[in-house]
Amino acid sequence: MFKKIFNSFLNLIYNEKCLVCSCAKTDELLCKSCSKNVYYLSSFAQRFYKEIPIFCATKYCETTKILIQKLKFSHKKNASIPLAKILYNYFLKLNLSEEYIIIYPPSNQLKSAIRGYNHMYLIANVFSNLTNFEINKDLIKKTKLTKPQYQAKNRHLNIKNSFKINEKHIDYLKNKKLLLIDDITTSGATLEEIINVLFEAGLYNITCLIISKAGC
Ligand SMILES: [Zn+2]
Repeated sequence: MFKKIFNSFLNLIYNEKCLVCSCAKTDELLCKSCSKNVYYLSSFAQRFYKEIPIFCATKYCETTKILIQKLKFSHKKNASIPLAKILYNYFLKLNLSEEYIIIYPPSNQLKSAIRGYNHMYLIANVFSNLTNFEINKDLIKKTKLTKPQYQAKNRHLNIKNSFKINEKHIDYLKNKKLLLIDDITTSGATLEEIINVLFEAGLYNITCLIISKAGC
């Protein structure tokens, strides 16, 4: 009861609203009704690439779409919190008891500079707080500017040879389990290209965990 009153009080001060439907009858960034619209996928890998399991937490629905868009294009950094929680809820369902190092795709330096942040770092940071897993911020580097994947005619060609591994981390990570997280997967081209460069660096212990799977 006290917590509820306290949260309502905070709402009055910060004018917190649901990021998706803008209703103010909540003390969360995602209200109960919008949370219910998140459709979680089964706790099996949706597919494998080179025997690496790719788990997708949800179907790409209105709720995840709006949260991702607000985080990427509307400077709503706090949208990273419900997105990381969605990922965490699904991760718990997987019953993976191992310790992981969180990694994520880098964005173009130009894009990060314009936006002022890498949106995947923000999600990784909240997810790291929830799991206590370490984050590696610069294992994967972007080597060239590419079109956003949703604008590319051939997504595999667009992203090919655009990542490299920061060699200084390889020895430390050789015997660690890597958890590659991302916001959305459509063709899987980005994930596959990152898995390729990780393999070339001798890093084979990888699990992919994606917030939303488009086209299903
Ligand atoms: Zn809502």
